[in-house]
Amino acid sequence: MNTGKLIVVSAPSGCGKTTIAQSILKKHPSFLFSVSATTRPKRSAETEGKDYFFLSRGEFEGKIDQSELVEWEEIYGNYYGTLRSEVDRALAGGHVMLFDIDVKGALSIRKAYPEVSLLIFIEPPSFEILRDRLQGRKTEDETMLARRLDRVPMELEYGRQFNHRVVNDNLERAIEEVESIVQSYVNS
Ligand code: ADP
Ligand code: 5GP
Repeated sequence: MNTGKLIVVSAPSGCGKTTIAQSILKKHPSFLFSVSATTRPKRSAETEGKDYFFLSRGEFEGKIDQSELVEWEEIYGNYYGTLRSEVDRALAGGHVMLFDIDVKGALSIRKAYPEVSLLIFIEPPSFEILRDRLQGRKTEDETMLARRLDRVPMELEYGRQFNHRVVNDNLERAIEEVESIVQSYVNS
């Protein structure tokens, strides 16, 4: 049986990691996506059970108490966490699973599954460009935008511990670079 592999893509909010992760998933229909649990409100383009499992704070805290989460963080005032059931599903079936989670969560995944984890960090070309992209996405009000930007220096620092770093200047080129890293890892 194949050994399952975990590929984690992280970046400061607005760097393009969801866009890049979705493109990698399209190229690899056999990959699974780790659907996280969160207490953040659903965005209009999102689907329950596909993008996230949207939970109340009480439900999320129940999962923490029951050890149902491999890792969890409180980010921008909301809980986000990786479900143990998602990781078990990938590893038991010998699948490659892709994660779109924050930098601290990424390091926790590698600590929990050191033999089968690869961490890819997506970097913005500059702080100004990142702010413009996040504003352009129009999903955050001014307060949330500021909270997301406040975390960027910490995230860039944690990103230094990742296995690979890719600058998302030109989207197509960044996707190609991530795809080439993914190919080498999956075939190793
Ligand atoms: P994240 O998941 O990291 O928060 P998104 O994938 O939602 O980021 O991307 C943030 C915004 O930036 C989106 O509107 C996306 O279309 C845009 N974007 C992503 N990569 C690029 C790029 N290389 N150049 C210009 N815009 C980009
Ligand atoms: P967003 O609200 O933009 O979907 O996500 C906010 C941040 O939470 C992003 O950095 C995203 O990658 C991260 N995130 C999503 N799911 C998880 C998770 O399960 N665990 C952790 N640690 N972070 C997550």
